[in-house]
Amino acid sequence: MHIRICPAYRWFFFSWKEVCLFLSIAVFLTGCGQMTFSKRQGLMMGTFVEIIVAGGTPSQRDQALEVAFQRLRELENKLNYFEAPGEIYRLNQTGYESVQQVSRETFHIVQTAKDFHNLSQGAFDVTVYPLMKLWGFFDDELNIPSVAAIESVMKQVGSDGILTDEDRSEIQFLRPGMGIDLGAIGKGFVCDDIVSVLKREGIMSALVNIGGTVFAFGKSPQGRLWRVGLRHPRDPSRTWKVVSLDHQAVSTSGDYENFFVRDGIRYAHILDPRTGYPARDSIAVSVIAPSAVLADFLSTTLFVLGPNDAPDMARQFPETHWFLTYFDEGNRFKTLSSSDLL
Ligand code: ADP
Ligand code: MG
Repeated sequence: MHIRICPAYRWFFFSWKEVCLFLSIAVFLTGCGQMTFSKRQGLMMGTFVEIIVAGGTPSQRDQALEVAFQRLRELENKLNYFEAPGEIYRLNQTGYESVQQVSRETFHIVQTAKDFHNLSQGAFDVTVYPLMKLWGFFDDELNIPSVAAIESVMKQVGSDGILTDEDRSEIQFLRPGMGIDLGAIGKGFVCDDIVSVLKREGIMSALVNIGGTVFAFGKSPQGRLWRVGLRHPRDPSRTWKVVSLDHQAVSTSGDYENFFVRDGIRYAHILDPRTGYPARDSIAVSVIAPSAVLADFLSTTLFVLGPNDAPDMARQFPETHWFLTYFDEGNRFKTLSSSDLL
């Protein structure tokens, strides 16, 4: 299954495939409304974005949405890793040859990604960029690379090779051929940033959806917690779970958005950076966390780790809730969740 969109969106930094993600969540806004709200949607950063602001006056809401979308455009320019003038793009082109000075936001996201790499013991690694390219996930030429090609590209992978200097806001790559792919953290980072923007604008209740990574605070227009539906990982027409968000984010990583099948084996877009091959132990992972960047990081990481290793990793984050679906040895659809560990 491949969902294609206008090629113009491909080079935005999350790549085209994220656009379908908005189908995986449904925001429940029905029922008798008590608060008025304003909503704005768009295609930005190669993904679907949506902000719903509730309460206040219409002019307050419009002003907040205007400022938020301006900020989205600014972040899109800075964090783009497929096209100039993106700072990550520039890094990926010349980050080995010369030290690159970057904006505060770009530095922060790269440093956060490096910290996450350590926390995940290598399961989360934004330097999978050359591997993603090798497997053809960027250009739709999906194929199984030779073992020799994977071994060779693996020499370029590893976040320990990203050198950062906070005082100078500088980044350099230690090894030639290195590159950064923000696909697993960018949406969360941007989502949290936009939440701060809305709060600075005096907004008390809002939902921010950046390509399926959602943060909600305050009350929905019905006067209760915001509720988000998660799509069933094997039956897109079905809402699988409904989660309520109380100043929390939810993010999902799954094997069903961007994948190809060869000889009955499904190869999806989340790679195990320790092997160079797509991670195959999970079907999908959803994480609810106090910040969107944490939910985004952890959903990818638990996906890579799979049902055997995910619980130990998740114990480091007791403030999160998660569900992991997988097929057991008998090919039965199973769910493991944080509440199973209580
Ligand atoms: P989605 O893209 O469906 O929201 P994720 O947040 O898990 O799901 O991000 C997956 C994307 O992250 C991939 O498309 C790729 O760009 C990048 N990526 C793949 N494997 C890893 C990994 N192990 N660590 C960090 N980033 C990864
Ligand atoms: Mg993620």
